[in-house]
Amino acid sequence: MTMIDKDSDERYMRMALEEAEQAGRRGEVPVGALLIRGERVLARDHNRCIELNDPTAHAEVLVLRKAGEILRNYRLNDTVMYVTVEPCPMCISAMVHGRVSRLVFGAPEPKFGAVDSKFQLLKDNGFNHQMKVHRGVLEKKCIEILKVFFEERRLKQGSSEFGVASSEIRSIKVKAQS
Ligand code: ZN
Repeated sequence: MTMIDKDSDERYMRMALEEAEQAGRRGEVPVGALLIRGERVLARDHNRCIELNDPTAHAEVLVLRKAGEILRNYRLNDTVMYVTVEPCPMCISAMVHGRVSRLVFGAPEPKFGAVDSKFQLLKDNGFNHQMKVHRGVLEKKCIEILKVFFEERRLKQGSSEFGVASSEIRSIKVKAQS
């Protein structure tokens, strides 16, 4: 079911981090996700917006789609979503539609984060479906991957185009340490 176990949360988050690293190597914003039911990893994937020319191709959405195909059901009851970064409003809504039981994420996301940071979509029982949330799993590592990615991209491009993003990531880091 959806037992909360720190060791397995970290183990699954490491797999999500591997996905995030793959995304980063492909020039995609490094976010990775996986969906499990019991001990079974139903799907794992990473952000592929650039590759697929698809603004909805966030790691979480791709993982929900794959899991739905595997289970032959759009209801994904008793599943746990692991994602390296706090999900955006689209992904939170998709998880609620899929009846995901629990969400585990690593880093906060100040620009789009829809659990705590920018919006609080799961607060006040706005949705009929309640999803449990566990935040901050391997948080430092999840932040570090983003930080390195944005810094490298900024250096490569030699422009300030991504300056905002990387300064945001720095501010997350400061927040996470305090
Ligand atoms: Zn998203």
